[in-house]
Amino acid sequence: MSKRNWKPETIAVQGAYEPTSGEPRVVPLTLSTTFAYDSAQEVADLFDFKSFGHFYTRLSNPTVSAFEGKMTMLEGGAGALACASGQAASTCAIMNICQAGQHVVAASTLYGGTYNLLCHTLPKYGISCTFVDQKAPAAEIAAAIQDNTRCVFGETLSNPGTEVLDFEKFASVAHKAGVPLIVDNTFPTPYLCRPFDFGADIVVHSTTKYIDGHAVSLGGVIVDRGRFNWKNGKFPELTEPDESYHGMSYTGAFGDMAYIVKARAQLARDFGAVMSPMNAWLANLGLETLHIRMDRHTENATMLAEWLARDKRVHWVRYPGLKNDPNYALAKKYLHGTSGVLTFGVRGGARAGERFMNSVKLARLVVHVADTRTSVLHPASMTHRQLSPEQQKAAGVTPELIRVSVGLEHIDDIIADFDRALAAANRV
Ligand SMILES: *Cc1c(COP(=O)(O)O)cnc(C)c1O
Repeated sequence: MSKRNWKPETIAVQGAYEPTSGEPRVVPLTLSTTFAYDSAQEVADLFDFKSFGHFYTRLSNPTVSAFEGKMTMLEGGAGALACASGQAASTCAIMNICQAGQHVVAASTLYGGTYNLLCHTLPKYGISCTFVDQKAPAAEIAAAIQDNTRCVFGETLSNPGTEVLDFEKFASVAHKAGVPLIVDNTFPTPYLCRPFDFGADIVVHSTTKYIDGHAVSLGGVIVDRGRFNWKNGKFPELTEPDESYHGMSYTGAFGDMAYIVKARAQLARDFGAVMSPMNAWLANLGLETLHIRMDRHTENATMLAEWLARDKRVHWVRYPGLKNDPNYALAKKYLHGTSGVLTFGVRGGARAGERFMNSVKLARLVVHVADTRTSVLHPASMTHRQLSPEQQKAAGVTPELIRVSVGLEHIDDIIADFDRALAAANRV
């Protein structure tokens, strides 16, 4: 059977690494910053892209390449660049096609770090952003597009609001404007959703979350679908000669791979925020069980959400896997499962919520999400505390909101822990 037709489960286990006779069965961890060659000409050819090979780990490394190859296959793209973190991936994905004087349109429900990047940090470098309500009609989102807009950015399943992106609406707005749709696909992972199937052009991930899956390594990745038409006049940085690369044109030399080659040749080279071989090895190991874990995370989260929805001590629950959730229809349309992340509010408001947070035992209070262990977080006082109350509201963060990352423990033990903590929250 051709690898082209491999199912996601098979790619997750075996994709992009094929040992020849006598080679290690498992992707080897290549802890070497550099690679030896016999002649100066060989190295010169590598620098000139006349041949391909590893020469310095900031630009490429065999372990990192294996991970990038597997992510490319899982997302159904043309190529990938692994980055030091999810933030590095988003930053590089945007800066690869935006420069001073240009503009981004983004959904307001983005992860707090991405929101800060677009709202505060990139504007200092001359890249501005207009945030839109992702539930708004297409015409309203399209009205945010300017002549200098160079991309539209959204999150498949927003963190922490669990809003599902209406891909077709966002893709049509972006494509009418001649710019790509960049999607942060961290929460679903390519196992639960492939944004390229619904019009996205570039996908980014924080691999720190479900892809690693065990909360052991930071990482990020950019995957390029390789189909966007960069030659529409808006992206001279991809079509015109690059002075820093002997006057090479990326579209001319690399065709469908232009965007991702430029990200590596220019931004990985100059900013250096690349994934370490150790973290690539760990993320790749995590991928081998991705499908098993994502199914169980979804199953456990669905059961916990249903239990919370029935409990009188709980004010509200939001989980796109619940039939009466406002995102249920979009989740059905775009996702094969809704991941392990849900949010809820305890009756009694922020104070009762705080008592709940202080009373859980199996679930721990951590600034993390999407690993094997059930965890809880209070965004208003933790991840989103740098945002103003209005910005928090736009990001879907209310004062009482508790974010739960449902792990892989037995659901009975998770529910027993929540039951005990809810009782404590209600005892005044
Ligand atoms: C965590 C997260 C990020 C940032 O990733 P890091 O690896 O922490 O830099 C970006 N987007 C989403 C949706 C996230 O959950």
